[in-house]
Amino acid sequence: MTKPPPLLDTPFPQSPEDTQRETALRDLIKLGAVASYLGRGEHPRRVLGLALGMVLDLTGGTTVALLVDDRVLEALASPLERSLGQMDFGERSRLVARGPVADRIRDWEGSSAPVLSLEGADLVIPGSGGGLEVQEPDCGALGEPGRVVLLHTLTDLCTGLAMLAAKQVESEQRARALVETRARFREQNLLLRELAVVDELTGLYNRRFFDGRLQYELDRLGRYGSPLSLLVMDIDHFKAVNDQHGHPVGDEVLRQLASRCKAMIRRVDLLARIGGEEFALLMPCTGGEGAMAVAGRLLATVASPPFALGELALPLTISIGLATVAGGWQGDAAQIFRAADQALYRAKLDGRNRVVVAMKTA
Ligand code: GH3
Ligand code: MG
Ligand code: MG
Repeated sequence: MTKPPPLLDTPFPQSPEDTQRETALRDLIKLGAVASYLGRGEHPRRVLGLALGMVLDLTGGTTVALLVDDRVLEALASPLERSLGQMDFGERSRLVARGPVADRIRDWEGSSAPVLSLEGADLVIPGSGGGLEVQEPDCGALGEPGRVVLLHTLTDLCTGLAMLAAKQVESEQRARALVETRARFREQNLLLRELAVVDELTGLYNRRFFDGRLQYELDRLGRYGSPLSLLVMDIDHFKAVNDQHGHPVGDEVLRQLASRCKAMIRRVDLLARIGGEEFALLMPCTGGEGAMAVAGRLLATVASPPFALGELALPLTISIGLATVAGGWQGDAAQIFRAADQALYRAKLDGRNRVVVAMKTA
């Protein structure tokens, strides 16, 4: 028993019409393959490169130029290419702005003819959104009637792809700009937030921030049970500094004093300027003894050396009121503040340049 021949071995009938049909079929398959790249998420730019390659295949031309709107070229080309009005797109293909070459293509707009025209040695194929110009085409290869239709379709495909690629580039640029704008906003927000909590003259935290932190520490105190100390300090006879040397000197003294004190406190402690020449120091997890030691160091730091301002050497002292509350204390921010403030008042009455510890915090 003889085996029937496999179906695929069946020879294709080779009449001239069959050859034409087979060529047309192959052309269509190629076109479909190019278009399918788009469906696979390939960048339209790359698909355009393939489509232009196919134009060269079909026409046998040496190079192909796709004539596009200025806007398309603007989006896809580099600044130099833009100024030249053209852009190399692969080895043998390029994009050319329509403007400068449009007058070479007669009957371009609004006319149905010519669908396909040969100008000199070049092949010009107008499409709806641009056109194709092929250098030195092989006229024999264009003998197939179906090819002309196919080239026309390819022209539209190429101009469409160029527009799509340009839109994609534009939307990528917009997305990048959006990311940059967001980053700028974030930076400005941080700056604004800092401005809202920092005292402009001394760079210390301001009263508002201090109050927030005090409340936070009091909440923690209720929960975790470690002590908390609050120190308020006020420059002694500061009015006299202003009166004798002027307000700018007073400002400079405030700045220097702030940085002296800041340099000697722990990072976990919070120093703030809470009024004209009044400062507060919040010391979490610090009992009375520890706070007293810090207060002593602050007194010493301010008292010497004298503040140097040009020729001037200004001796200065501060008075300190100190309040410490133990873990589990149930009072509020106003109470602990009042206690420290009253202690400060007593330090002033007792002769200044000293620390007074609040007796009662409730
Ligand atoms: P005491 O020892 O009782 O605290 O006396 P004092 O002179 O320091 O207190 P008083 O409250 O009489 O004066 C405070 C002075 O602080 C008056 C005010 O002009 C000055 N002052 C407040 N804020 C600033 C500021 O930002 N810059 C300058 N240069 N002076 C300020
Ligand atoms: Mg004062
Ligand atoms: Mg004061």
